[in-house]
Amino acid sequence: MNDDLLKNSLLNRFVRYAAIGSQSDMPRADSGIFPSTDCQKDIAKALAEELRSLGIEDVTLDPNFYVIARIPATPGFERAPSFGLSAHFDTAMDAPGDNVKPQIHKDWNGEPIRLEGGFALDPANDPILDSCRGHTIITSDGTTLLGADDKAGVAGIVTLAEYLIAHPEVSHGPIEMLFSPDEETGHGMDHVPLNLLTSKAFYTVDGGQEGELETECFNAWKAEIEFTGISLHTGHARGRMVNAVSMASAFVASLPAQESPEATDGYYGFYAPINIEGSIESAKATLFLRDFDRAGMDRRLETVDVLAKAIEARFPGGKVSVKRTMQYLNMKQKLDAAPEILAKLEKAAANAGIPTHLNPIRGGTDGSRLTEMGIPTPNVFTGGHNYHSRTEWASLEQMYGMLRTLIELAKCWSE
Ligand SMILES: [Zn+2]
Repeated sequence: MNDDLLKNSLLNRFVRYAAIGSQSDMPRADSGIFPSTDCQKDIAKALAEELRSLGIEDVTLDPNFYVIARIPATPGFERAPSFGLSAHFDTAMDAPGDNVKPQIHKDWNGEPIRLEGGFALDPANDPILDSCRGHTIITSDGTTLLGADDKAGVAGIVTLAEYLIAHPEVSHGPIEMLFSPDEETGHGMDHVPLNLLTSKAFYTVDGGQEGELETECFNAWKAEIEFTGISLHTGHARGRMVNAVSMASAFVASLPAQESPEATDGYYGFYAPINIEGSIESAKATLFLRDFDRAGMDRRLETVDVLAKAIEARFPGGKVSVKRTMQYLNMKQKLDAAPEILAKLEKAAANAGIPTHLNPIRGGTDGSRLTEMGIPTPNVFTGGHNYHSRTEWASLEQMYGMLRTLIELAKCWSE
């Protein structure tokens, strides 16, 4: 398979996946439905079918719609350590995601790309896009997201399988593939069949800009703060009513505004109020707390407690309670303890001619959960950008860089 054929295969596969609706649904996922949507079951079945049609015999579609498949080692490399590659096939619900119509801008000339509904991609305010002049750029038509997150990763892994099967002269050990639902709802690894996975290391192929590798993510907690007031007719309320709506809004207003998602980047953590609801009698505020540092996270958890106490003091007769839930942990410590996993990835990218740098993820990945469960899992770039939006785009050349890195990674693991 020459470069052009391989690139075309990657492109065709990607736009085919992008056109299949597979949004996950946070409220349904939070209520325990898994996968959270039926459309994810359809794409899981299609993926399992496609992998079999490529000639892969070891394909499992598990009862929770995880797809696990193995590419056997080439002769003589059966004893090389197995490694895994993982990508999620659901897309985000932050923008419409059904009826995606991928638009291919071949050899893009650098003119702003106009989409429906007044949306546009303008290199003047997107330096990464600006650096991709001459690339084949893939966008939606503006009515939906594109779903490069993470169908670029899915397409990359499946095209790797196709390539290795077509090229038995490329030596490699056993390779495991994991395609999973519901990453976007934060439940992606809730039911992962760990007992079916044999690799001691995995890589999620779920990043962005070419060359970006990720071994670090936030520590993440959710805090649910309940405010209990005392309801009374508003005409007879003086000195007796305690308004939970006022308590909840006073609490949210007391959060440090300079430590919000919209005011931070890089290594700065934040408090993010994501929901507030209620009435005079009771109200609830939900916060996401994020920090790369454990001590920083402890400080944030304490701050929430102190601010909650302060609201109680300001609203005599009212009650405030705080419930905390850990969502995921920074994977850095566990990945630092197994440095060869990142070293192989860096070497693979270098062999593919791609300079790399480490980037802290201001979120979590399925890899952070897998790492917690004992399988160290850094994250690899895909060439997708502007995730979760109608202006999401991908560069075919960068996606091809991902594929070449994966091919080199397969070689590195056989050494
Ligand atoms: Zn993703």
